[in-house]
This record gives sequence, C-alpha cells and structure tokens, in this order.
Amino acid sequence: MRNARDMLAESEIVVIGGGAVGLGVAYALARAGKSGVLVVEREPGVGRVTTSQGAGLCGQVRASVERVRLAMHSVETFRELQQDAEVRPDWHEVGSIRLAFSLERVEELRRLASVCAEAGLEVELLDPAEAERLWPLDLGEVRAVLWCPSDGFMTPTSVAAAYEHRCRAMGVRFLTSTAVTGIEVREDGVAAVRTDRGYVTCGTVIDAAGAHAFHVARLAGLELPIVPVRHEYFDTEPLAGLHPDLPCFRVPEMTVYGRAVGQGLRLGGWESTAESLDPRTFQLEAQAPAIATDSVVLAGFDEQFAALFPAVRGAPRTRVAKGWPTFTPDGGFVIGESRRVGGFVMAGGCNAHGISGSAGIGRLLVESLYDPHPGAYVRSLTPDRFTESAWDWDDARSQAQRVYETYYAPAG
Ligand SMILES: Cc1cc2nc3c(=O)[nH]c(=O)nc-3n(C[C@H](O)[C@H](O)[C@H](O)COP(=O)(O)OP(=O)(O)OC[C@H]3O[C@@H](n4cnc5c(N)ncnc54)[C@H](O)[C@@H]3O)c2cc1C
Repeated sequence: MRNARDMLAESEIVVIGGGAVGLGVAYALARAGKSGVLVVEREPGVGRVTTSQGAGLCGQVRASVERVRLAMHSVETFRELQQDAEVRPDWHEVGSIRLAFSLERVEELRRLASVCAEAGLEVELLDPAEAERLWPLDLGEVRAVLWCPSDGFMTPTSVAAAYEHRCRAMGVRFLTSTAVTGIEVREDGVAAVRTDRGYVTCGTVIDAAGAHAFHVARLAGLELPIVPVRHEYFDTEPLAGLHPDLPCFRVPEMTVYGRAVGQGLRLGGWESTAESLDPRTFQLEAQAPAIATDSVVLAGFDEQFAALFPAVRGAPRTRVAKGWPTFTPDGGFVIGESRRVGGFVMAGGCNAHGISGSAGIGRLLVESLYDPHPGAYVRSLTPDRFTESAWDWDDARSQAQRVYETYYAPAG
C-alpha cells in the first residue's frame, strides 16, 4: 500500500539505469518527442558501472544487415552529439581494420563486406601492404584486411555525459543516488516504481539495469536469462609508433581487439573459457561481485598480439579495466515490452555492444513501442522469447557463455 507522503515523483516513463543503454534509450525517447521521461540511477552520477569500463570501440561491421544498421545509427548519433558546444562523447572517426590470416577468414571478410554493402556501409578490402601504412604492424602473414573508414572510438564516460546533457536539454529528468527496490504491477500493468527514497508513479518502466537487469525484471515477476560474463582489457604506457589517430583493430584469429589510447595501446580480447555469473547468486541491492585482475588471461592477449606488434610484450600497464557485460543464450539483445506485464519494457542483454549499440538500441526500443508495424528484427528481440518458452538456468548460462567464447568465430 502506497502512502501519498512517500511519493517522490510522477512520470510517464521511468528508465531504470543510467548506463549507456538507459541513456541511449532516454535520448531516443526524447528525440521521438516523448515527454515525461525520468532516468533513475542508484549511483551518484551516470555511466559509472559497466559503461565506465568500456574500451570505447564502435564497430559497424557485423554479420547481419540489421546489426550493421543499428551500429550505423549509433555512429550518426555520436557524430551528432560531438557537435554539442559543451559536452561531447569524444568521438574519433579514425576507421578500423579487421585482419584475416586464413583463406576461410578472407572469405568471411568478403561475406562481411557484402553485408555492409547491402546495409549501405562503406568498407574496402585492402591488401596487407596498404594496411601496414595504416598501422605500425608486422602484417607478413596476413592475407587480407577489411577497412571501415567510418568506425571509430569514443570515451564511454563522455558518451554517458553527452547523452545526459542532451537529454536534460530535451526535458528528461534524472534521479541519481536513488535505487529502485520494487515495481508495482496491477491488473492493467505497471503502476509505479518503488525506490529507497519513495515511489514514482508511471505507466511504463524500462529495465536498463545492466548486470542487474535480471533482478529488476524479477521485480515485475519475469524470469529472464540475462547472464553477466567477465570481460577485461589493459592499457600500456606509450609505445613507439602509436598515436591517437590510428584506426581501431580487430584480429579475430587471435581473439583480440584494440586501439591506441594516447601514445599507448589498449588491448582486449575474448577468452576461450569465459567466467560467467548466475545472477541469482547476488542480490539486487548488492554490486555485482568484484573482479580480480586475471593476469594469465591478460598475458594471453599480450602474447597473441606480440606476433604482430612485438613492443606490447612486457610493456608496463597503466590500467586494467574489467566488468560484467551481459550476454543472452541466443546472442540477441532483449528489447521491447513484455506481453505478460503491460508497461514493463526491456533494454538489455547487450552482448558487449552496449555503448556502441546504445543509440541503435534506443531507436529499436522506440520502434517496438510506438511504431504500429515494428519490423521483424525488433520483434525477434522481444523478452517474450524467454518468458514464453521453456529454458533452464544451466543451459542458458552455458549458452550465454558460449556466445562470449565464440565472439570471433567465423561469421556467416
Ligand atoms: C572491459 C570491457 C570492455 C568493453 N568494451 C566495449 C566497447 O569497446 N564497446 C562497447 O560498445 N561495449 C563495450 N563493453 C560493453 C559495455 O560496457 C556494456 O555493454 C555497456 O556498458 C552496458 O551498458 P548498460 O547501460 O546496460 O549497463 P551499465 O553501464 O552497468 O548501467 C546499468 C546501470 O543500472 C544501474 N542500476 C542497477 N540496478 C539499479 C537499481 N536497482 N536502481 C537504479 N539503478 C540501478 C547501475 O548503477 C548502472 O549504472 C565493454 C565492457 C567491458 C567490461
């Protein structure tokens, strides 16, 4: 039972979580002309949890036309936000290269290039000599390189700040240092969100709570397999030949990616044996478990990449970033309103694309809610695909982990 004195705010739409995804969603709603949007974030500011750990790469080359277009929309948005006079996402459109050593991978690059062409994204297959001019790498064994000139990088915390700034200018309100503790659901759907500072009445609640998306969905009575999987990268001290205008790179056969960060190197990768969490083992009120730096895994990235860039071997590290991005058993985002709980909407399960995908996810969410004929792609991302089919936690978790472990498996 609510007590009128405990009312904190009234709003039409409450977005739970001020990470890249919640902010991308709030921005898309405001751009679509929706008023009455309120972002509730339990940290004292936005972008402080998984988003703050992001490597900042934004890659548009993906295996399906829909995914390419989603990332293209994010790039358009970063360009747009970069025009702001005061708060910018620090977007650098330096391009990207993706390397192939084997004939199978060269074929994959060709397939990816044709998907990009269909989506309207400019890419080009380069020979290694041309690519060596783009990056100070030893590309002796490389057979082909896919160059995407409009890829780039941003600073994730700046992306969050830029979204917040533009959102406020369009009338979105923010409640920080405010934790959601409950969701009130009546017969006709969501009626209010309870927080540790009082309740907020609303008709729509959007769960963008990152590693806590599972817990927030459970507040509305939904069980969703949104699985946090550990991910990490490191930065090095300045190394000869590096500067911030170099393109981002991806080397799928070495399962590593990276970019220059200042004059140093940022190197991340995908592990063949991932570490995931069963979200039922930690509480909504608690942080996701702390991650100890895994020096064996980081040394593995180092060792792999040293074949192309020997200076990385043993280079002093200046930062290790790590967090729990969420994965789903089928590798798809979870976007849209639940058919079971009217007004309860998901925006999560980002499979480690939550920052680069943020604007595209926001646009899809708006399409799913307000377009009378949402497209097949966004319909395929509905949370109902999990709530209306049988699944169990052991399988869901191992499948989500597998999505992580095979992130760079040949596409197509
Ligand atoms: C090492 C690393 C490198 C990465 N590199 C990249 C990259 O290069 N490009 C890319 O696109 N992605 C990258 N990612 C993935 C990316 O960081 C995530 O996909 C993205 O940050 C997820 O954003 P989010 O908003 O869903 O989650 P978060 O940023 O975690 O935001 C969720 C928010 O919800 C809030 N919250 C939770 N519970 C409550 C509650 N009860 N009440 C109120 N608020 C609540 C949290 O405080 C948090 O701020 C990387 C991730 C890691 C760990």
